[in-house]
Amino acid sequence: MKKIFALILAILMVASLAACGTTTDATADEAKVYTIVSDNAFAPFESYDSETGEYVGIDMDIMAAVAEDQGFEYNMMNVGFDPALAKVQAGQADAVIAGMTITDERKEIFDFSEGYFEDGQVMVVAKDSDIDSLDDLAGKVVATKNGTMGAEYANSNKDQYGYTTKAFEGSNEQYQAIINGNCDACFEDYTVIGDAIKNGVELKTVGEKINPSFYGFAVKKGQNAELIEMFNAGLANIKANGKYDEILAKYGM
Ligand code: GLN
Repeated sequence: MKKIFALILAILMVASLAACGTTTDATADEAKVYTIVSDNAFAPFESYDSETGEYVGIDMDIMAAVAEDQGFEYNMMNVGFDPALAKVQAGQADAVIAGMTITDERKEIFDFSEGYFEDGQVMVVAKDSDIDSLDDLAGKVVATKNGTMGAEYANSNKDQYGYTTKAFEGSNEQYQAIINGNCDACFEDYTVIGDAIKNGVELKTVGEKINPSFYGFAVKKGQNAELIEMFNAGLANIKANGKYDEILAKYGM
């Protein structure tokens, strides 16, 4: 009797192990759901639409169109620019799409897709300011947004031009600091500040576009190579079939 019981137990164990194996295989076969992170206030690329409670923008739509074209699933988390980059580096997210400029420095820790939009930075001041160039910034305070090209530009020029910088987490915070007089200028992406001004933000741009370069979708270096391949393939397809132009047009580009 004991022997038969032990045998049945053994059979049951083997059967359940086999079942486990099957379950594991089935899960592995199921499509992975990627976690993609983004900025949270960077219109027209990503911004919160309080009417729908959804994030909208060029990056959001490009991501959706590429994923649909390539047949993969993802969750989008709009955590802010610097936190998004940190999450990808920490392995807490698979990729970032956040109006992120492709640079040689970033290529040391990220792998980028093909560029999908060209932009640069520009100096931004209060509407009634007479600051006209870097030379006028002596003794002034320049607002910076953590982790951005604008911040890098501001910080790399401050000693030469004699101004100090004050760091903020997001684009809107730096605009607000200039509007309320706590800061005198910032360097923001050209298209983004253009969109803000068009929508009534009381600021103006001065001078030329700085560092024109492309935005890319990025993964942690050496990780998720298939995601970069799918993004590039999807981007090529939506450029060819008109979807990409449709998205830009939807946001006034
Ligand atoms: N394009 C800029 C950068 O990559 C700003 C990006 C952003 O603020 N979302 O640094």
